Amino acid sequence: MGGQEVSTVDWQGKHVTVAGLGVSGIPAARALHERGALVTVVNDGDDERARAQAAELEALGVTVRLGDGATLPPSTELVVTAPGWQPDKPLFLAAAEAGVPVWGDVELAWRLRGTNGRKAAPWLAVTGTNGKTTTVRMLASILDAAGLRTAAVGNIGVSLLDAVLGEQEYDVLAVELSSYQLHWAPSLRAHSAAVLNLAPDHLDWHGSMEAYAADKGRVYEGNTVACVYNAADPATEDLVREADVEEGCRAIGFTLGTPGPSQLGVVEGLLVDRAFVADRQKQAQELAEVTDVNPPAPHNIANALAAAALARAFGVEPAAVRDGLRAFRPDAHRIEHVADVGDVAYVDDSKATNTHAAEASLAAYDSIVWIAGGLAKGATFDALVTGAAERLRGVVLMGADRALIHEALTRHAPDVPVVDLDRTDTGAMSEAVARAAGLARPGDTVLLAPACASMDMFTNYNKRGEAFADAVRARADETA
Ligand code: ADP
Repeated sequence: MGGQEVSTVDWQGKHVTVAGLGVSGIPAARALHERGALVTVVNDGDDERARAQAAELEALGVTVRLGDGATLPPSTELVVTAPGWQPDKPLFLAAAEAGVPVWGDVELAWRLRGTNGRKAAPWLAVTGTNGKTTTVRMLASILDAAGLRTAAVGNIGVSLLDAVLGEQEYDVLAVELSSYQLHWAPSLRAHSAAVLNLAPDHLDWHGSMEAYAADKGRVYEGNTVACVYNAADPATEDLVREADVEEGCRAIGFTLGTPGPSQLGVVEGLLVDRAFVADRQKQAQELAEVTDVNPPAPHNIANALAAAALARAFGVEPAAVRDGLRAFRPDAHRIEHVADVGDVAYVDDSKATNTHAAEASLAAYDSIVWIAGGLAKGATFDALVTGAAERLRGVVLMGADRALIHEALTRHAPDVPVVDLDRTDTGAMSEAVARAAGLARPGDTVLLAPACASMDMFTNYNKRGEAFADAVRARADETA
């Protein structure tokens, strides 16, 4: 269990440069300053907000340098960076040249856990291109149902540093990690971890698919009990094979089919465990019914199996897996059923901001009027359209890069009717919903799964989803 030991760093008088004022930088600067480190915060921006934040830190005795995040202060012994800072920034090149280590917020939390007199809880970690937040919240729900003191933390929007240094003591943490955070977390050693899937995303930041995959794969390094992979996504299993884990740590697969030994899977409408049982050659343990998963769409059942695998790796009983899955409620804008109008269901998956996510939600319905478009972030849509073509009743396209999707539809689904909305004003979504309703037939699903980012037309995916839901409810009221 070497990897689970708490490391000790003598912070007294250590020169630490914190890169980036912000959600992770400010708590990091405070925590390090409290421990006696000599902290300098460097930040690219120099606006009013940054100045106000800087003034607060300076009042504590922290040095803040605004307007220059590129130059490494000369005496720096360690850089602690905000996870989003791109690795090719001059600050990091200077650090590499000077032999100065760089940690992200996750690495810092990992190193500081257990230093405030509270127990250092083990981490069950989840990463992947899509499904992280859902899986981590399902996992926390299961752990909670098992009576364990836990929280869903990390990239999900709850600072790991706060969780690790806060008043509350935990038995185990359900940790969502982004590829950026993993990039900057060299010594993280989770109890067990899952990579849900791997599809191209954030390649501009990582530089290449290989680099992106390698950063995701770091989540398996030093695992002590289980490395959980997706049997349908061999790239995730490859990462397990490449990882350096503690002796006795097992590779555990999840599959939507019948599980082999050391896998969790689905048999006759049941989620079953053929990994954490006494005789995995002959035995399978029932965990829950497929209908206990909310919503029971295929990709979400995969998320539930991954969460169950991590919980079982931690020793959770089958009944708690079932109870935790039943208690779980999905976050808004993730395959959210908004309303039925007439015999047509309206589903909001505004969070499907890339093609891999949209592919999963398109796979969940038989006959779909698809609302898509927005900012493509360099994606191509041929595979997505080819896979969904048979199930498309019609398509309504909106947003900056809609022509890319339209072209893919012309190539691969020429018979599917397409409405091309050339407007970006606030009424656009309402027209999209009306046009979709015009295409739909009884039994169909109108699905907002844009496969694109929202920022060309909306502040974020939440606002896009709300606009959709508002338009749907208005129609429901009209027809009621
Ligand atoms: P993340 O935290 O990785 O962004 P979320 O759980 O918030 O993931 O889900 C984001 C979107 O990704 C969902 O709205 C859904 O469209 C899609 N999604 C969720 N789980 C999966 C999965 N296992 N595989 C593919 N797509 C998924």
